[in-house]
Parts: sequence; C-alpha cells; structure tokens
Amino acid sequence: MEHFQEAEHVTMLRDTLRRFVETEMPRELAQKWDRENEFPREIFDQLSALGVNALTVPEVYGGAGRDITATMVVIEELARRSMAVAVPFIMCACYGAMNIEEVGSEEQKTTLLPKLADGKLLFAYGISEPDVGADVASVRTTAVRKGNGATVTINGSKRFCSGANIADYIYTVVKSDPEAGRYKNLSIVMIPPDAPGVTIELQNAMGMKGASTCDVTFEDVEIPAENIVGGEAGWNDGWSRIVGPGLDVEKIEVAALALGNAAAAVDDAWEYAQERKQFGKPVSAYQSVRHMLVDAKTKLHACRLMTYHAAWLLDEKKPASVETSMAKLYVSDTAKDIVLSCQQVMGAYGYIKEFDMERYVREALLMPIIGGSSAIQKNNIANRLRLARE
Ligand SMILES: Cc1cc2nc3c(=O)[nH]c(=O)nc-3n(C[C@H](O)[C@H](O)[C@H](O)COP(=O)(O)OP(=O)(O)OC[C@H]3O[C@@H](n4cnc5c(N)ncnc54)[C@H](O)[C@@H]3O)c2cc1C
Repeated sequence: MEHFQEAEHVTMLRDTLRRFVETEMPRELAQKWDRENEFPREIFDQLSALGVNALTVPEVYGGAGRDITATMVVIEELARRSMAVAVPFIMCACYGAMNIEEVGSEEQKTTLLPKLADGKLLFAYGISEPDVGADVASVRTTAVRKGNGATVTINGSKRFCSGANIADYIYTVVKSDPEAGRYKNLSIVMIPPDAPGVTIELQNAMGMKGASTCDVTFEDVEIPAENIVGGEAGWNDGWSRIVGPGLDVEKIEVAALALGNAAAAVDDAWEYAQERKQFGKPVSAYQSVRHMLVDAKTKLHACRLMTYHAAWLLDEKKPASVETSMAKLYVSDTAKDIVLSCQQVMGAYGYIKEFDMERYVREALLMPIIGGSSAIQKNNIANRLRLARE
C-alpha cells in the first residue's frame, strides 16, 4: 500500500463539490427529491457544468482524461447528500462514458463520448430480469437481426432498471443467438426508452429515489444495428464486454455510494449526540454512545482506505479484481453497520422521516444487494485467489 496522500487536484475537486452540495443541494431539497422520487435535472445540469462527467472520458473525445479516484470522490460527495444526484452521475460518467470508452466502437466513441463528457446523456442498466439476478449470463430478453442485419428487434423484459424513466439509452444485455452456448450468445444494445414498443413502470423501492428503479418491457422494439455496443464486433460478443475492466470500477462505484451515505450518517450522529441532553449531560458523555460513535468513525476510515486504494490500483492500471471485490464487500456491509449504529445513537429521532437518518438507513440497506451481492463478491474473491474446492 503506497498511497495515503490525496492528490492536490483531488482535494480541490472535493472542496468544490462540498461547496456545490452545500449551496445547490441543501438538505431540504434532498428530502424533497427523496419524498417525491424526483430527479433534479437542473441541479444535475449545474453539476455537469463543473466538468465532472469529463472525468471518465479521454481528452481526445472531449474529456479530461480518465481519473477513477476523482470519479469516486464525486460519487462519495454527492452520496453524502442525495442519491437522486449521485446515481444519475454514475448513469452518465460510468454506465455511459466508461462503458462506451471501454467496449464501444470507434463510431460510438466519437458520437457519444463528447456528449457524455458534457453530462448530456444518461444510461440505465438493463441487466436484471424477473427470473435473472446474479446469473447474468442467463438473460432471456431476445434480439434478432432483421432487414439483412440492418436492424435489431428486441423482445423481453428487464427488472430493477434504475433510472430507465430518466435515461437516454437503456444499456441492455440481450440473448442474440438462440443456438450458441453460454457466454457466446449475448450482446449489449442501446435502446432509447421512447422507442415504440418500450413500456416503463416505476417500482416502489425503499430507497435510491430520484433514479427510480423500473420494470421495462420490450415488445418488438426495433433499433438500428448501429446501436449494438461495439458495432458488428460486439454481436454475440457481449459477455467479454460485461465482465471487462469496467466491472472492477462498477464494484467501487457502489462502495463510494455506501461510503458517502455512511459518512453523512456519522456526521449527523456525531453532532446530534453532543446536542441531545439526557440526565443533565449530552448523550455523547455516556460511554456506550462514545464507543458507538468512535467505532463508526474507525470503520468509516477503513471503508475510505479500501475504496480509494482500489481506485488507486485502477488508476495505476494494476490488477484490482480482488481488491475491488473486497472493497465492495467490506464497504457495503460495514457501511450498513455504521449507519445502523448511528441510528441507535439518535434514538427515536433516527427512526422518523423528519430526520435524514431514516433515509440513510434505507440507502444503506441497498448497498450489499446491488452491483454484485456480498455473497457474489465472496465467491469472486475465493475464486480469484484460487481457494481449493476439492
Ligand atoms: C434499488 C435497486 C436498484 C437496482 N438497479 C439495477 C439496475 O440499474 N440494473 C440492473 O440490471 N439491476 C439492478 N438491480 C438489481 C440488482 O443488481 C440485483 O439485485 C442483483 O442482480 C441480484 O439479483 P437478485 O437480487 O434478484 O438476487 P438473486 O440473484 O436472485 O439472489 C438471491 C440471493 O441468493 C444469493 N446468491 C445468488 N447466487 C449465488 C451464488 N452463486 N452464490 C452465493 N449466493 C448466491 C444472493 O446473494 C442473494 O442473497 C437493482 C436492485 C435494486 C433493489
């Protein structure tokens, strides 16, 4: 572990974001977005004007050059206040820009990356289906070439498609060859949500409001072959594009969300405990509360080190699939513990909607589930480290 000092440009970015969050994303607005399940597009546009979406795009395509550490700082700082802005940032800078940069065709890079760098396009992930969760390679949504291959017709349904209702494209994993074997029969296609035959229904998830998770149905949806991710080379070669290096970044995107949410919970509980008086003293005077807060801060520190160490490995282009899985596993599980103990510190006030703690709890419960569950990360780590099965 070589990397303990945050680079100066990253600290400056963090400071800029903190100012942006304080002025443009006050608590009352974050509460409203959560309550009304609202995506604040005008705030997102103001955020984009800071240039943060360019952090995942190479300069040659109009970006600032890929900087994973800085990207995680943006996610963490936004998640301290609101998933309704943090998740759309991921939909643009990560689901959109990072994927297109890594696995898109040259034409897709040229046309899409400059818009993504400007924050003008949002991508939703259409991977999960009613009968397909962790076992992504089993998707049943079909894609058939028609018109001598010029178009692709999609039929099927996706579930838990976050932000499909606010996206410009649904980045959809489809079964494109009914005959070929597992892993050789998948493609990724970009489907505009307003294409004829697409139906979107909001699901009522506990948290992550603003980038609402959706049920999406495709009925004879026709898209041009240019929307096959990777162009012709991507047809039936979707699996390598799903499990490419982008997957490692995706794991720590969730870690950064969990970290930001937990950091906000610690800040609120820390302050509350010093203000709330019982038996003539602030509750922070009592050892049980002091210890809960100190444990929470210590765990938060560990979460931060793991997240940014994994980001640093990725920036250095070093192997990171074990460390990113460890970060996803540890940070999302630990952030949940942190938030639950912060809720205890606030007693009854941690359980009512008038206080942000109630929202932090709902958000924290999600993190071990999405982006590859904790069990799946444990499988990844054991397999990567070649832990013997026999
Ligand atoms: C709010 C929210 C937003 C989401 N956003 C998106 C999105 O934008 N796009 C998208 O495609 N999906 C999204 N998802 C879906 C999410 O990625 C899925 O939860 C995930 O794919 C796992 O599927 P599942 O929850 O159906 O669990 P399942 O895969 O059915 O697993 C059920 C349980 O079994 C365990 N399990 C499964 N397989 C194994 C195994 N091999 N070894 C050990 N344990 C195993 C799991 O850990 C889990 O505990 C979202 C989900 C939620 C709740």
